[in-house]
Amino acid sequence: MSQEKVTPQDQDSFVDDQPGVRPIPNFDDMPLHQSLLRGIYSYGFEKPSSIQQRAIAPFTRGGDIIAQAQSGTGKTGAFSIGLLQRVDFRHNIIQGLVLSPTRELALQTAEVITRIGEFLADGHPSFCETFVGGTRVQDDLRKLSSGVIVAVGTPGRVSDVTKRGALRTEGMRTLVLDEADEMLSQGFADQIYEIFRFLPKDIQVALFSATMPEDVLDMTKKFMRDPIRILVKRESLTLEGIKQFFIAVEEDFKLDTLMDLYETVSIAQSVIFANTRRKVDWLAEQLNKSNHTVSSMHAEMSKADRERVMNTFRSGSSRVLVTTDLVARGIDVHHVNIVINYDLPTNKENYLHRIGRGGRYGRKGVAINFVTDKEVELLREIEGHYHTQIDELPEDFAAYLGE
Ligand code: ADP
Ligand code: MG
Repeated sequence: MSQEKVTPQDQDSFVDDQPGVRPIPNFDDMPLHQSLLRGIYSYGFEKPSSIQQRAIAPFTRGGDIIAQAQSGTGKTGAFSIGLLQRVDFRHNIIQGLVLSPTRELALQTAEVITRIGEFLADGHPSFCETFVGGTRVQDDLRKLSSGVIVAVGTPGRVSDVTKRGALRTEGMRTLVLDEADEMLSQGFADQIYEIFRFLPKDIQVALFSATMPEDVLDMTKKFMRDPIRILVKRESLTLEGIKQFFIAVEEDFKLDTLMDLYETVSIAQSVIFANTRRKVDWLAEQLNKSNHTVSSMHAEMSKADRERVMNTFRSGSSRVLVTTDLVARGIDVHHVNIVINYDLPTNKENYLHRIGRGGRYGRKGVAINFVTDKEVELLREIEGHYHTQIDELPEDFAAYLGE
């Protein structure tokens, strides 16, 4: 699947392995159903990544689990496989729930689960359905009455259909919070706790993210029982394959600077992040006006527009996506090899998630940060926090792009 043979995550980036966590270097040696193995191989996975080697077996045992691994190293595969092994397809009730922060990520995850579970769920083609905003609730209610086994959704819609009693929770065995630190942050925590109230007390809870800040780990004590913890050392969180650079530029010159870079940027596939929806609109308009074709996306657009933009970007027919933190987390587009922070993100976690949109599964990528005088300090903080190095952009940076 990856064009170069690189280890997607080196083994000693993890905090020392805990009792109960023993890397298993082959899918065949994991406690998995034969038809699930078949699904894994036919999906194209040959060897488990480091996080898959560590997380899948404990996941299948049913205990709580907190799993951290660098961006693009296969966390989706880890929880999808674990969850599928936990589901009993002889029972026609919902048993697994995955919550994601955005619609786009929920759809992407449901696709992975559906495909890996294809043989396991033989004769059950729509065992995995999505429940996200911007769609008709009626359609979701209909899906739910026709036998869903695994639900993937965003917190708002999932709590809605749960409160209506349409999403029955009594058979629920596993809850996954993908991008867990985001899901437990201010914006979502209330909805998550609301959903929790409906879930069986002994449900398995699994948290996955590339970032697990201390305050989130503290919070988990409230609702997790003696979880297995797989954590990455902070100094190992940035990926070798993603070279990070900065350009010192004042706000008024950012646009010109971006246009100068555009030739390189549009050859690769790239994501440009700005901090507000309005700025995304403005930037996309300026670029398009100057015949620099770009797509743009943010949360104020309609579901149909968001879908159209994601589809053209995923297919590669659009090469440059201007967006907000809406796309910072989880979105997996293999060919993205340049990420530009037109504005620096205001939180350290999202810095890591943003630059992780490039360099997926061991591929190479470049992250370029535009920094004004005011942002220099923040950049240095990020650098210190992740024990990483962010140099001034050299002329020959294209050498770091790979492919
Ligand atoms: P994460 O959630 O850790 O950021 P993803 O789960 O989105 O990363 O995976 C990133 C990419 O790596 C995906 O395109 C996925 O198909 C690929 N991938 C994951 N596991 C494997 C594997 N074992 N072998 C090959 N490719 C894999
Ligand atoms: Mg992910």
